[in-house]
Amino acid sequence: MRIADLMERFEHIAPMGLALEWDNVGLLVGERDAIVNKVLVSLDFTPNTLSYAIETEADLILTHHPIWFKGIKRLNDPLILELVRHNIALVAYHTNLDTARYGVSHALAQALNFTVEDRLSLETGNRQYMVQVTVPIEQIDQVREAAFAAGGGVVGDFDRCCARLAFLGTFRPLEAANLKTGVRGIENHIRQEKLEMQVSSSALSAVLDAIRKVHPYEQPYITHFPVQDPDPALGLGLVCSMEHKLNLKDLAAYVRDRLGVSQLRLWLGNHAESTVLERIAICGGSGASLIPVAQKKADIFISGDFSYHSLLDSSLPLIDAGHFHTERPVLDYLKKEITAFGLEALVLPDTQHEYLQRSLWI
Ligand SMILES: [Zn+2]
Repeated sequence: MRIADLMERFEHIAPMGLALEWDNVGLLVGERDAIVNKVLVSLDFTPNTLSYAIETEADLILTHHPIWFKGIKRLNDPLILELVRHNIALVAYHTNLDTARYGVSHALAQALNFTVEDRLSLETGNRQYMVQVTVPIEQIDQVREAAFAAGGGVVGDFDRCCARLAFLGTFRPLEAANLKTGVRGIENHIRQEKLEMQVSSSALSAVLDAIRKVHPYEQPYITHFPVQDPDPALGLGLVCSMEHKLNLKDLAAYVRDRLGVSQLRLWLGNHAESTVLERIAICGGSGASLIPVAQKKADIFISGDFSYHSLLDSSLPLIDAGHFHTERPVLDYLKKEITAFGLEALVLPDTQHEYLQRSLWI
């Protein structure tokens, strides 16, 4: 399979259009037409990741964190040069995997055996557009099908969503008119429908192209404009529940054991350690910026990288299980998806990651 084909399939898993504006996702090193047989999945591109890829003869390294975010002026990093010398490509799926329908936080929820109730934040790099097109009634189905096939009309867990508004269009072709339909000189009446559907920014150009391709008019009347309502299935973090509710202290110990963390921090906020809480917000990685929204939607927030001041300022109880351990579960999810494409996939063993190799928990 070509890297381009793999990435096209990944558009259904982690659409590039979902990445936040400051991020840098996609193919960072390599050729789109190169053939890939074996993929190494890792949170980071590090010397150990590269050595392991060389050792296992992987053609592609898929990381969660990009190696660089901004434009680079010189390509003299020995690690990148070594990667290129070995003809290994590098792809990063970062905030597009965080905000995807099933992404980093879903994998975390699964690892913790939590039930997903809601999105924590609906923030993504994606915008939703409303596309409207008028179509003669005889051609409505072909236009609708083409738009759906190109990714239009998907709202949360529903597809083929659209509104059809029947109306009677009138027109009178004047002498100079280049006539495709109707009779010159008189008012013609034609039964039409206005087709309206929501389209994500990542699918917008494909949907517009598909409509133009099958529309009977040489110049179809199509309008599109951004809408504010975000897709409720996409965004950062999740609000979850668990079947057997635990008090704060037991919940922290449960998270520690499920994620295989040696130590974690439970910040009690305004609560006693014996308090039993219902709604659990989670976010894999660095979730500190989501504390205010977690405060509104949940009773406790589990994430990583909480700073001293974010703890002190929070009346909400917080569990800091670390960046690595809260993102680690997504690697197995990626491996499963890549394997389903018929490729070989392996995850960098935890013992090979510098973060665990070079940290001491004392
Ligand atoms: Zn991260």
